[in-house]
Amino acid sequence: MNGIQLLNKDQLISVLSQGRTATAIHIGEEAVIQVANQAMLDIWGKDSAVIGKGLEEALPELKGQPFAKMFKRVWQEGITLSGAETAADLMVGGQMRTFYFDFEYRAIKDELGQVICVLHLANDVTDRVMNRRIIQQVHAKDQALEREQALNEELSAANEELKAVNDELDQSQTELSLMNELLEARVAARVKDLSKSEMRYREISDELAAINEELNAANEELMSSNEELLEAKENLQKTFDQLEDKEIALRLTVEAANLGTWHIHSVTRAFITSARLRELFGFHPDHEITIDDALEQVTEEYRSYVQQKFENALSGNGDFDVSYPVVGFHDQKLRWLRAIGNLKSDKSGEFSSFTGVVMDITPIKKDEQRKNDFIAMVSHELKTPLTSLNGYIQILQRKVNGVGNEFINNSLVLAGKQVKKMTGMINGFLNVSRLESGKIVLSPTHFSLSNLVESALEESRMIEDGMNFIFHGCDHLLVYADYDKISSVIVNLLSNAIKYAPLSKQIDVKCELADQMAQVSVRDYGIGIQTQDMDKLFERYYRVQSDSHISGFGIGLYLSAEIIARHNGRIWVDSEPGQGSTFYFSLPLNGKV
Ligand code: ADP
Repeated sequence: MNGIQLLNKDQLISVLSQGRTATAIHIGEEAVIQVANQAMLDIWGKDSAVIGKGLEEALPELKGQPFAKMFKRVWQEGITLSGAETAADLMVGGQMRTFYFDFEYRAIKDELGQVICVLHLANDVTDRVMNRRIIQQVHAKDQALEREQALNEELSAANEELKAVNDELDQSQTELSLMNELLEARVAARVKDLSKSEMRYREISDELAAINEELNAANEELMSSNEELLEAKENLQKTFDQLEDKEIALRLTVEAANLGTWHIHSVTRAFITSARLRELFGFHPDHEITIDDALEQVTEEYRSYVQQKFENALSGNGDFDVSYPVVGFHDQKLRWLRAIGNLKSDKSGEFSSFTGVVMDITPIKKDEQRKNDFIAMVSHELKTPLTSLNGYIQILQRKVNGVGNEFINNSLVLAGKQVKKMTGMINGFLNVSRLESGKIVLSPTHFSLSNLVESALEESRMIEDGMNFIFHGCDHLLVYADYDKISSVIVNLLSNAIKYAPLSKQIDVKCELADQMAQVSVRDYGIGIQTQDMDKLFERYYRVQSDSHISGFGIGLYLSAEIIARHNGRIWVDSEPGQGSTFYFSLPLNGKV
């Protein structure tokens, strides 16, 4: 080598150390660091203490990275391995960071081809890589921005188009809804028209159907009425025939019984009479008479009574059955007549027909008169000895009072009671005969009904001390009546209540205002009365047929009824057999007698 001295090993290493390119020399499989210049140490972030250490020992953070393996291969296989911008994680300044290197691991061989070391060259390109990356990122960002812008533009263009389409749609929608409204209005109007005409049509139909039904019904009614009419006509004919038969029978009966007949029109008072009736009133048979003509013939004492009964019946208050004496118009004969009548309202309701018969009851009356006279005479005759008997009993009572024995005392009391009872009976008979011969005259006064009822009760309590008379009080009722006669009615009702309730110990007496009348009632809990007997009780001498042997003559209620009738009152009974009876009578309040 022509005078040029070759560099020794240390010089070579020094040269290498000063090279700017990071250089290191490794030997062996562990890549033990033989030489590492400052540039390499800077890259590693280490100092020269790493010289003589294996690669992974010197840089423990490389464990798990591929570099140690690469060295091993290069050492073993004598090859060169290189990398560009290869990432390596290194601990520099106490911090792990990723760096990028262009590097080469080159196996250096001796003349025999034996690997003596591995030359390690490295160039830190981290900045370059990072810059490029940033540029790339910026570029990518720009591109993305551009793309976004382009997209945005497309979007806004699309939006515009959409808006235009929307506007168009809106317009069409508005037009459509307008058309719709128009159409709906037209349809509604049409539907209204249609439903109106349909309704009308239905109404007419219904009306027609109803009319038809009515017509049918009327037709049917007409047909059935026709049938009924035919039937009625036949029945009428039959009834006419029957009536004719009956009329003949009636005429024959009337003639046979010698009855007079009459007919009165309630409004016109037309009085149609038969010849026999006129005869009974003492007129010539062909002499037409008026109601007043007939009434004129009734004896004076009976006239107003008959007239009242007649008016009463004519105004629809019950049947007419009156017996009265008349004096014949021509013959001046006294006849007793009994008139029985019945009022029938005309269907029009405007007038009534009052029809009846009159019969001559003079023989019966005469007979009765004779009987009455006889009873009156007997009663009268019996009264005188009874009065003396009563007197003697009273004298005896006074005489033995306190000194006689008990038996005699009791017998005298009983005898007195029996005489009183008998006197009562005889008085009853006398009263009947007086009544019938018109000798009973009323002497009315104003008095309080409650006073009368109470004193009558007092009297009854004295006679019947074993009976419980319950007086249920009395409204303040003033009447104008004959005190004694009304008193005799109450006494009679009370004595009947005692007599016909032998097993009961209670009698309820009440007086009250009912239907504008003063009403008295006497209730007993005795044997009661069958319905069929109720009306007849007030007839003269009527007694209910029964097994009981209760004494009496059937004149008490007859007399009571007559007295009440004379006062324009009413007497009646309500009863249930076995449960007891309630007798009522009513008087007009302060009424005229
Ligand atoms: P008398 O009692 O003297 O027979 P009345 O004229 O007083 O006559 O009575 C007529 C009839 O009415 C009586 O016979 C009797 O049958 C019936 N009667 C009257 N009062 C009552 C009564 N309170 N309970 C049941 N029946 C009675």
